[in-house]
Amino acid sequence: MKRTAIYMRVSTERQATDGQSLGFQRGLLTEYVESRPDLILVGEYMDEGVSGAKFDQRDELQRMLADVKDGKIDLILFTKLDRFFRSVRHLMNTLDTLEQCGCEWKAIQENHDNTTPVGKLSITIMGAFAQMESDMDSVRIKDAFQHKKSKKEWLNGHVPFGYRLVDKHAVPDPDRAEAARDLFRQYIRHNNISKLTRDNAHLGAPASTRGMKILLRNRAYIGEAYGIEGYLEPLIDSATFDRVQLALSRNVKSNTTRDYIFAGLVRCPNCGRRMSGATYPRREWAKYVCNYSHIGQCDYKHTHGEKKIERCLLASYEADLRNRYLHLKEIRHVDNSAQISALYRKIDRLKDLYVNDLIDIETYKADLERYRGEIKALGKPAEANTEAIEKLLKLNVLEIYETLSNAQKRRLWCSVIKSITPRDGSFFVEYL
Ligand SMILES: [Zn+2]
Repeated sequence: MKRTAIYMRVSTERQATDGQSLGFQRGLLTEYVESRPDLILVGEYMDEGVSGAKFDQRDELQRMLADVKDGKIDLILFTKLDRFFRSVRHLMNTLDTLEQCGCEWKAIQENHDNTTPVGKLSITIMGAFAQMESDMDSVRIKDAFQHKKSKKEWLNGHVPFGYRLVDKHAVPDPDRAEAARDLFRQYIRHNNISKLTRDNAHLGAPASTRGMKILLRNRAYIGEAYGIEGYLEPLIDSATFDRVQLALSRNVKSNTTRDYIFAGLVRCPNCGRRMSGATYPRREWAKYVCNYSHIGQCDYKHTHGEKKIERCLLASYEADLRNRYLHLKEIRHVDNSAQISALYRKIDRLKDLYVNDLIDIETYKADLERYRGEIKALGKPAEANTEAIEKLLKLNVLEIYETLSNAQKRRLWCSVIKSITPRDGSFFVEYL
């Protein structure tokens, strides 16, 4: 006897149209079990009103999979594969789980042979079609957004400071519009974002400098939203807005502290302690000094320029550096899988936010694009990896080196070197 579970799912918006109501599915499935003397029904699992794409919300499916893992189920029945799954990735993951647990499955209205490579391939293709269908749901939502946009409705709950939401439209807030206009004027006057934030937070303006910068860049103030001009009533004229943009772009200062390439690696030849990086008179000129000489605990007064140490090391150890670099590359490729799946999870969550109307289509598109770009950049196939390395082997390592950031350079050196000690006008290098 095979302990058999039946799984049914319906998403509310489709229930009426596709003739696969829960009752219909259940009828077919129980009939099937009853007609087979070798099957015994041990569980029914039913997910109602959830889209297949939103895997995490399907509690009953999760409960069933848990029962499979506990060894309570030998066979799972459902009507069609798209009742069971609508995302290729989740489909394949789940099928793997079932296979590992020795649990069989069957879509009684479709014929899938999941024992041969060809059968498995057709399942993948089926899943891909189901995925496309699921994406179509997103298209429908997109249409809904288009409709809202055509009526110039504000697409999310958050309206910019100085506006309020009236009848789904963003309109100037009589209590705050003047304060919002004044932010732009104040910034033109003193050009000081911190002061602007401090002086206006009590009015309800952004309380962080970051938030304030976002506000000053928001084109809604000149009437533009979602890339559409004249979407809402402007509070600022274009000339004022442009002046503020110009001032903002001139005030971009890098707040990041400088990465010292040899931080922690350079040793004081006198006292043996680590020499610290320092920048003077300008940020670009980094030197290493023994901090203990300042407080009278060491007599070593010399400083060593970062550029000089770098040149010295590069001249002698180019070949070794190349090997280490390639090694690092390889490690990075192996480590990427976790990051890549994290990004896929982010995309899933993003989809949820979008479907639940918590973010607008512009945000959805922009973030999706970004995550996909990140996934692409991380890359993964092992075959492509060797190709990349071969390409690197042909490159001049010094050229590669120059493209690295200080933080990357530091990582590279730290993977090769244990310590660097100034000696006789040059540097003594101890390798790992
Ligand atoms: Zn010292």
